[in-house]
Amino acid sequence: MIAVSLQEGAIVLDPFSVRVVLGLVTLTLIVISCVSSQRRRSPYAEWWRVALCLFFVGNAAFLMNGTAAQLWANPTGKALVVAGTFCVWAGARTLRDRRASAWLLLPAPLLSGFASALDDPGNSVWSGGLVYLCLTTLGITLAALELWFAKPARSRITKFLSIIAGLTALYYLFRAVTFVLAGPNNEVFRTFFGYAPAALMHLMLLVAVSSTMNTLSNKQLIKRLRERADRDHLTGLLNRGAFLELASRQLAGPMSHHGAALVLADLDHFKAVNDEHGHSAGDAALRAFATACTASVRSTDLVARYGGEEFILFLPGATQQRAEIIASEISSRLSAMQGPDGLPFPTVSYGVTSTGADAPDLAFMINVADAALYSAKAQGRNRVVGAEPMEAEPAAEAGHPTS
Ligand code: GH3
Ligand code: MG
Ligand code: MG
Repeated sequence: MIAVSLQEGAIVLDPFSVRVVLGLVTLTLIVISCVSSQRRRSPYAEWWRVALCLFFVGNAAFLMNGTAAQLWANPTGKALVVAGTFCVWAGARTLRDRRASAWLLLPAPLLSGFASALDDPGNSVWSGGLVYLCLTTLGITLAALELWFAKPARSRITKFLSIIAGLTALYYLFRAVTFVLAGPNNEVFRTFFGYAPAALMHLMLLVAVSSTMNTLSNKQLIKRLRERADRDHLTGLLNRGAFLELASRQLAGPMSHHGAALVLADLDHFKAVNDEHGHSAGDAALRAFATACTASVRSTDLVARYGGEEFILFLPGATQQRAEIIASEISSRLSAMQGPDGLPFPTVSYGVTSTGADAPDLAFMINVADAALYSAKAQGRNRVVGAEPMEAEPAAEAGHPTS
């Protein structure tokens, strides 16, 4: 099989051989994508695999050009390749949390197939060529646009993919224009835009996009795992480790001179909830308290499950007084909510402190808040006790009931 021959100094590619190589590379990429498949693949990776399969079968159909099967294989191949490009678009849409319905995906491939079928496909490999080139340009342009605006914004990988798709769309546009102006038998068209050079370009594209897809997939998986590692499974709040890391980073950060408040919360007689109403009632109370917390704070505040039925809040820029008001608000919210069987949720005790004039220290703040919380329990529970960090006996201040 000779893929390349030299004619009068110019490189001439043999379309059949290039197509065979393209088919083998596509098949390899499909196999790699199946073998390296993660249990929960991202939707765009699934769409990319579907696109690869369509390109593979479409390309195989084009291999029948010049045989008796060309009559049906050529329109089929065009329909499949156009379907493949629209699948790339569908995959790009999922990066913006958009879906692609069959109504959006089916018309273009069908149109391309029919246009080719009605244009003497038995005798012309370029039957329905203009419709095919225009629809492919459209599919890839749409994909490039979706990728450009993909989430997360400023991702270098999606921008790179967008540029690759944009350049491919431009190539197809030139193909279509040269096809109209010069025709498929023209020297320029055959040299730059014919089946063989296009197949060579597809070869480079598929390899570049497939490897980039893997990187994108891995990055998203790492992000998902990291998010999961930082969260408490039951409440969805930050866990203790993530909280300590984020809060100390904030205390050491440039905004630390604005001060911050810290709240420790502990559900009252929570063991009795479990004992009397079952563990699932206890879990419901923990989730309800988490909801009440997140509803009462700003998105920039940190809320975490510190352990068991203890929670911790870090409120950057908040005064001690403000933090005490927020703690009371959380309790009001919780008392307005109802448990699974209409049961009231338990009351909550709080220990509140804030950064002093000295360099703030998270461990010290937690100790002060913990002492204040202990005092709230000792005073009869269901109350907020504030303690200035500079006080010699932090827990000495009198608490005020929250209801
Ligand atoms: P106090 O008012 O003094 O805080 O009393 P308490 O009963 O709330 O405190 P105690 O430390 O005696 O009991 C805490 C209970 O929290 C015991 C434990 O079984 C329960 N608990 C810890 N984690 C979970 C959880 O994830 N789900 C449920 N349902 N219960 C939990
Ligand atoms: Mg408790
Ligand atoms: Mg406790």
